Amino acid sequence: MPASTIQTVTQLSYLIAAALFILGLKRMSSPVTAVSGVRWAGIGMVLATAATLAFMGASPLNLMLVIAAIALGSIVAWISGKRVAMTDMPQMIALYNGMGGGAAAAIAAVELYSGNEHNLVHLIMAAVGGFIGAVSFSGSLIAFAKLQGLITKSVRFGGQKFLNLAILLIAAGFGFMVVSGTGAQSGLPLVSLFFAFALILGVAMTLPIGGADMPVVISLYNALTGLAVGFEGFVLDNAAMIIAGTVVGSAGTLLTQLMAKAMNRSLGNVLFSNFGESSSASGGAVTGSQKAIEASDAGVMMAYSQKIIVVPGYGLAVAQAQHKVWELTQLLIDHGVKVRFAIHPVAGRMPGHMNVLLAEAGVPYDLISDLDEINAEFETADVALIIGANDVVNPDARTNKSSPIYGMPILNADKAKNVIVIKRGQGQGFSGIDNALFVLDQTRMLYGDAQAAVSQLIQAVKAAG
Ligand code: NDP
Repeated sequence: MPASTIQTVTQLSYLIAAALFILGLKRMSSPVTAVSGVRWAGIGMVLATAATLAFMGASPLNLMLVIAAIALGSIVAWISGKRVAMTDMPQMIALYNGMGGGAAAAIAAVELYSGNEHNLVHLIMAAVGGFIGAVSFSGSLIAFAKLQGLITKSVRFGGQKFLNLAILLIAAGFGFMVVSGTGAQSGLPLVSLFFAFALILGVAMTLPIGGADMPVVISLYNALTGLAVGFEGFVLDNAAMIIAGTVVGSAGTLLTQLMAKAMNRSLGNVLFSNFGESSSASGGAVTGSQKAIEASDAGVMMAYSQKIIVVPGYGLAVAQAQHKVWELTQLLIDHGVKVRFAIHPVAGRMPGHMNVLLAEAGVPYDLISDLDEINAEFETADVALIIGANDVVNPDARTNKSSPIYGMPILNADKAKNVIVIKRGQGQGFSGIDNALFVLDQTRMLYGDAQAAVSQLIQAVKAAG
């Protein structure tokens, strides 16, 4: 095939692949079409990979190595994807995201080490993309280790921010020398030092951040990985990489902003404060006592209700209670009760955590509402059933200016006529503060693991006739 035809077919394949990525992402925006969205994006990725392999003109040995690497990676990803528990999903995303950043850094390293002829703009792009990719790679690995419980302490000391700034400046200095050709004779050591300091920066930046803040950080690294891939796409003149990288970069940036906003915190606060690590933060103390209820009494109350709003939270994910919750919901609907689910944007430990769990159990999407849609309805609910949620229903966020979560939008469960809270004991939520909802007059605590407690409720509703 003539070179110009190969070039045209390759670019056309990349364009189709990029269109499939965008279509896939669009379809991922709704739970109804999300699965097909993942498939479309996957087809795009297969097309882009096939086009690259078919037309890159690699030697047979290189081709075999690439195919072997793809086969190995696919097997590992398939097995780990099948096995991962829903609660472990954030660290899995961190790991895969880190691999993306690492791959972008590896492309940059090949270009910078090889001494290939590049114009200045390409060199700068390779260096910037490589730097961002390396930071994202090592930072994501630390995030993974924290969420997996391999690193349990957040390393903090005085002057840490200045040290990180110094590492950043040193890396930037080496990057400048690499790009400008300063000390060209010592090219290899310079490039190595440049990457070494970028990797150290990723570690140093992530070590002080509390494990519970990691999902926001992972989302940020996700955005950075996209950016790095986009930069390397320019270096390799690869349209699919440029578009895919830009899409991932902008989606990741939006997600990071949304998560930070839903927690009413700035990104700087997430990266540089100690939120969630210092338990019982000031202003969080609540006076009053919690009142327990038996499952049998709670079941009767629910069976004779007209409208119940279920608020799922992190504890539902821990207990894997979603199937039981759907069983209870169906039973209540059969009793003529109107049941709705209220989802807070940061309930659980990753964006969409609750939606994924409820979808897995088969809860129809029209029963599920976002905070904005449902908040006004709590006033007309007979029961707000809180299952393993805590921070997302803490009224202190609305009323107590000294609370660390003051200003965070919450689900107005306290406005319901009755509130039943399922949790194991007096444990606090992610923010480490007490919850004013739990001591209100209309609130009753149903203590126990969410799955066991909901099973008891099912029996109680059945017994209520
Ligand atoms: P919380 O973390 O506030 O509270 C969860 C509650 O579940 C705990 O109080 C715990 O109490 C209870 N629980 C734990 N295990 C079980 C179990 N097996 N059965 C029953 N209950 C259980 O969860 P929310 O979902 O309300 O809030 C999420 C928090 O996470 C927010 O503060 C949010 O800002 C934060 N966050 C969310 C992110 C996201 O992307 N979704 C990202 C980063 C942070 P007990 O120990 O007494 O059982």
